[in-house]
Amino acid sequence: MESFFDFYELHNSTNKILPFRSSPSIKRCRFCNEQYPSVTFNNVPHLVPELFGRNNLTSNFECDKCNKKFQKFENDTATMIQHYLALLNIKTKKGTPTFQSVKIPYGNSTILKSINNSRNLNFGTNLNDFNYDEQEKSLTIKFRTKKFRPFSVYKIFLKMGLSLLTEEELKTNRHYFEFLNSEEPIMNGMQIWTIQRYMLKTKFHLIPNVNLYRAKKTLINNTEFPEYVLLINFANIIFQFFLPISIKNINEHNDENRLNLELFPSFVLDDITRLKEIDMYSLELNETNKISITDKVILYYEKKETSQLNKSI
Ligand SMILES: [Zn+2]
Repeated sequence: MESFFDFYELHNSTNKILPFRSSPSIKRCRFCNEQYPSVTFNNVPHLVPELFGRNNLTSNFECDKCNKKFQKFENDTATMIQHYLALLNIKTKKGTPTFQSVKIPYGNSTILKSINNSRNLNFGTNLNDFNYDEQEKSLTIKFRTKKFRPFSVYKIFLKMGLSLLTEEELKTNRHYFEFLNSEEPIMNGMQIWTIQRYMLKTKFHLIPNVNLYRAKKTLINNTEFPEYVLLINFANIIFQFFLPISIKNINEHNDENRLNLELFPSFVLDDITRLKEIDMYSLELNETNKISITDKVILYYEKKETSQLNKSI
């Protein structure tokens, strides 16, 4: 059976690059293309925002103006993901996030917070959020996130992708910046709005990392492959995000062809003997209204889900 790795290879990774500590002779912002001194570079921005977990990978190509703009989008992204970090007790810049489900009419909300480095689940009287399966030795928890704007999350993911492209690739794909800086989603068929979320059951990333994959071939017979795919790894979560259609994709495009969105086989990272199913969830990021999502997280009890996790960094 053909898989993701038959079509894609690792192109760049936050594991490969060192923090940009030096100051370039010409300070130019990668995202707005403005140059010092018309924009300043006093902040030390992170290539992978610390909302995904503490890390020391900073960049030197983001101006203070863009940094401020992205912070707003980061807040929405933090709201979407904070229950994953709270579950695994992973620290962010602001400490371990406390998660509180939004209120629903029929009961108290689920509260998850870190007390003395242990995880505490408080279900109140809301047993709807909570299901213990004796036979499977599993605990299923439903989390309803606070409201966040999915389009903001799109921008954060796209920005991380642009941070991992080479200068040459960015020059070729200037249209990516139009997408990054637009106030509203541009619906011209070039952006792939669906992200996939995979939840690993046996491993987690204490320090987040982001990997950029590139299609080995963008056209095979009558099938087109988006040139760039991003995998964002943090806690026990992987998000798969397709960068917009590239110039190479556009040049090869033919209306007769079909577009193939190859899914990452997250189970290769897990201990396959312990997997019963692949836990996947998809979400559309072109939504500009604030929404709340309900996420189902399954914890396995007897298997000592935290202590047996391999701390892969
Ligand atoms: Zn800028």
